[in-house]
Amino acid sequence: MGARAIRILLLVAALAFAAPAAAQYYTWGSDPASLRWHAIRTPDVRIISPDTASATALRTLRYIEAVRPSLTPLVTSHPQVPHMGRLLLRNVRAALWIDDEAVREEFGELGFSERGIEGAVALRMSRDAVDALIEGRRVKLVVDLKPALTEEVLRERIRREVAEMAPTELFAELLRKLVPKPMVIPLAEELDIHSRSYVEKITEAQFERLVKVLKGLVLPVTDYAPFEYAVVTAGGVRCDEVNPYTMESLKVRGLYFAGEVLDLDANTGGYNLQIAFSTGRLAGMLKK
Ligand SMILES: Cc1cc2nc3c(=O)[nH]c(=O)nc-3n(C[C@H](O)[C@H](O)[C@H](O)COP(=O)(O)OP(=O)(O)OC[C@H]3O[C@@H](n4cnc5c(N)ncnc54)[C@H](O)[C@@H]3O)c2cc1C
Repeated sequence: MGARAIRILLLVAALAFAAPAAAQYYTWGSDPASLRWHAIRTPDVRIISPDTASATALRTLRYIEAVRPSLTPLVTSHPQVPHMGRLLLRNVRAALWIDDEAVREEFGELGFSERGIEGAVALRMSRDAVDALIEGRRVKLVVDLKPALTEEVLRERIRREVAEMAPTELFAELLRKLVPKPMVIPLAEELDIHSRSYVEKITEAQFERLVKVLKGLVLPVTDYAPFEYAVVTAGGVRCDEVNPYTMESLKVRGLYFAGEVLDLDANTGGYNLQIAFSTGRLAGMLKK
């Protein structure tokens, strides 16, 4: 949404840089249809201006932070995720790793769909993950599926479950006691244990690996969903180019900005609407 708006405002801005916005037609002295137009395209921004104002348009680029989707699903290369279907995990804890550092931790819902990893946890993490991916850094989510249990307590619980099962019950039945049904086969695949193995055949090392995966399922993040699926646009007109009391551009008199077109974005929770309402009201007052 914001990205489209940005293109339109940039066109206006580019024109206004060279002349008062209301007078563009007369300044150029000819019908816009007869002018030669110049377009600058970057991966994020397109500025269209009359040929004669192309240098000004180029300068305008400096006042804009590159736009990118934010609060958007994250795409993982984990081979088992497509087999989990549309699954929503509640009460999980996830850590976002960028290169070799855990930079953010979130608790709550994590969902899987054809768009990628979503849910409040993934969307909030996407604010950092998208920028890291653009910078070409390594990104992964490490998901603790049992955040209420320490490794030790979880190990004990698994032993208890196994003790209560008949030796010829299947590994899949043990997993079913630990994770939602759509995760059973993918988790067995991840552990490289046949889901129809008897629990009595599972080795100590395999149980240990089960504990480790339940406490830290690694989902490599390779991409992010495009603007169509994003809740908000990050980047835009730089805030230090705007008078915060009036929302008037510091570069172009009479040009006001509001909402997502500004380089302002926030977490889920109503903050983005608040940004739009507050800046919109200020801009609407048209104070000099
Ligand atoms: C699915 C979804 C859920 C969201 N949920 C939340 C939430 O729970 N809480 C929250 O705080 N924020 C939420 N947001 C974000 C919030 O809606 C936006 O941040 C906010 O609406 C931005 O307002 P805006 O006025 O800047 O831009 P927009 O709301 O995008 O308004 C821009 C308007 O300009 C119009 N327009 C575009 N091009 C042209 C043109 N050429 N000519 C004329 N008109 C044009 C568009 O049609 C649109 O009406 C959500 C967003 C999405 C997509």
